[in-house]
Amino acid sequence: MDFALSPRTEELKVELERFMSEHVYPAEPVYDAQIAENDNPHEQPQIMRDLQKIARDRGLWNLFMTHGDRGAGLTNLEYAPLAEIVGRSIIGNEAINCSAPDTGNMEILAMYATPEQQRQWLDPLLACEIRSAFAMTEPEVASSDATNITSTITRDGDEYVLNGRKWYTSGILDPDCKLVIFMGKSDPDGPTYRQQSMILVPADAPGIEVLRDLPMFGYRDRLGHGEVQFTDVRVPAANMLGEEGDGFKIAQGRLGPGRMHYAMRAIGFAERALDLMCRRALSRVAFKEPLAERGVVREWIARSRMEIDQIRLLTFRAAWLMDTQGNKSARSDVAAIKVAAMETAHRVVDRAVQVHGAAGVSDDTVLARLYAITRALQIADGPNEVHLRTMARLELKKHEAGA
Ligand SMILES: Cc1cc2nc3c(=O)[nH]c(=O)nc-3n(C[C@H](O)[C@H](O)[C@H](O)COP(=O)(O)OP(=O)(O)OC[C@H]3O[C@@H](n4cnc5c(N)ncnc54)[C@H](O)[C@@H]3O)c2cc1C
Repeated sequence: MDFALSPRTEELKVELERFMSEHVYPAEPVYDAQIAENDNPHEQPQIMRDLQKIARDRGLWNLFMTHGDRGAGLTNLEYAPLAEIVGRSIIGNEAINCSAPDTGNMEILAMYATPEQQRQWLDPLLACEIRSAFAMTEPEVASSDATNITSTITRDGDEYVLNGRKWYTSGILDPDCKLVIFMGKSDPDGPTYRQQSMILVPADAPGIEVLRDLPMFGYRDRLGHGEVQFTDVRVPAANMLGEEGDGFKIAQGRLGPGRMHYAMRAIGFAERALDLMCRRALSRVAFKEPLAERGVVREWIARSRMEIDQIRLLTFRAAWLMDTQGNKSARSDVAAIKVAAMETAHRVVDRAVQVHGAAGVSDDTVLARLYAITRALQIADGPNEVHLRTMARLELKKHEAGA
């Protein structure tokens, strides 16, 4: 295992750090102000379009895409330290076209879409001309078990007809969202893991109705999470992603690298929180001494540094395994970092909130938002317990084989 940065990563790291300090951090308040001024809070603010232009001109674009020649041609291990840098700002990933849910959607389009589907959907997504959503989770069933999905995809001549209710469909409220990747059952009586399919649906197809704009701990973020009704939505049969019955397999393919990206960003969140914690501890005086002089605060700082460095190494190892042995072999490690990185980030943010006192729960700093995000992301893309279940199963298998 060699985690030394490649010359290309080194170069991109310097460029990205410069981009973050010159453009992204100063743009954070402008981004919020422009969203507040827009008639539609889900519309992309102009400052983001400006940031994206700069990023693109500097070659800081689609760094996440490890498939074929469509992205920057980085390995997962090369991308990991870069994702962390942009993860320090909650607008960083969007600025370089590396934000969820589009990254996961672009991944599966690169892996499973036909050349025609790629031309129609993947190319404009990579160019950031359109945005996309992923509709798997349903309000009525425990969706961490994808076999529970009840939405239907029924063949009718040259078309499929889609019915079902989805929620937490992130991104669907963005007016630039033109594509929904919909998961439903195409063969409810088939073998358990072949019942589901995924199909590409134009977001303006008749029969799609966004019922609610769902909050995340009271926040309504720019992307928007929709509760969406699909009623007799018709799409051409050619819109099937992969073969009928591939839905479960594609869901696994989508979530593998996606989870890795979440972990990398989580390290960025944690670094930002630690940075804010240290600054505040040095400048805030209580009982005649800066908070940084208190043993308990020093311990929070030291523990945070130690825990962040642990998850970084774990993430590098998972990335290295994905690159060298494939996503399947890295399953347990990827599950581990999705859980460990987000838990760690949440704990570090929690300490930083405490050091800030009331300011920590206000919206004067990014901490309250990071607190909500790092909590919610222990549920999104599979709850922690489901990843731990995967890990335990794989671990026990080793012993069962030898028993
Ligand atoms: C901010 C946010 C954004 C999201 N974006 C999207 C999106 O874009 N598209 C989309 O399709 N979905 C999205 N989701 C939904 C998310 O993927 C689901 O919420 C998640 O998969 C869990 O499904 P569920 O909510 O139905 O929980 P359930 O399946 O009902 O599970 C509830 C709880 O049960 C426990 N549990 C479940 N299984 C086990 C087990 N095996 N062992 C022990 N405990 C268990 C866990 O604690 C879990 O949290 C998003 C969610 C959030 C919060």
